[in-house]
Formats: sequence, C-alpha cells, structure tokens
Amino acid sequence: MAWTQATWNAEGWRMDAACQDEDPMMFFPVGSTGPAVDVVEAAKAICAVCPVAQECLMFAVTTNQEYGVWGGLDEEERREVRRQWRRASRSVQRQAASA
Ligand code: SF4
Repeated sequence: MAWTQATWNAEGWRMDAACQDEDPMMFFPVGSTGPAVDVVEAAKAICAVCPVAQECLMFAVTTNQEYGVWGGLDEEERREVRRQWRRASRSVQRQAASA
C-alpha cells in the first residue's frame, strides 16, 4: 500500500474501526506518564486487533495528527514514522523532478 493522501479512502476505513464503540478519551489521554501510560496501552491493545490499523496510521501520518493513539502508535512513535514518510516523499519528489 502506497502512503499517499491521493490513494487512501478518507472515510471508508472508519466504518471498520475497532474503536468505534470505545470511549474516545482512551485514545486521547491527558499526559504521557502515570495513569496515562495504562490508558495508552489499553488503546494500543484495541488497535492491535483493528482491521484498519494500517489505514488509520496512514491517515494520521499523512494528515499530521499530533495527539493520541492512531494505528497502534502513540505520539512519539508516530513522529518517527512521519519523519520516515516525509523523507521518502521528498526522495520521490526529487526523483520525479529530475526525470
Ligand atoms: S487502529 Fe486503533 S485508533 Fe485506529 S481505527 Fe483502529 S482501533 Fe481505532
């Protein structure tokens, strides 16, 4: 699956989200220490069995969602994925410009 905004189904994947009946606060805890650690782990456990985790993560990375758990990754983990995606995107753009 290519990670581009042009190819993902912006809304369809949400219909299959494993979290759709969960408390949204579980995915957006306040803080990142203490009780929030357990909340984030509980959210990640739901993401681990979510059939659209890849689409969710792609959405979060390509639309720069800074907060919360998306696609099984917390904010810090997603920042690294975003850095990698941006590097790859710039590389593709440079190759296209030089072709
Ligand atoms: S990966 Fe997690 S946050 Fe994303 S739709 Fe699935 S359960 Fe929800």
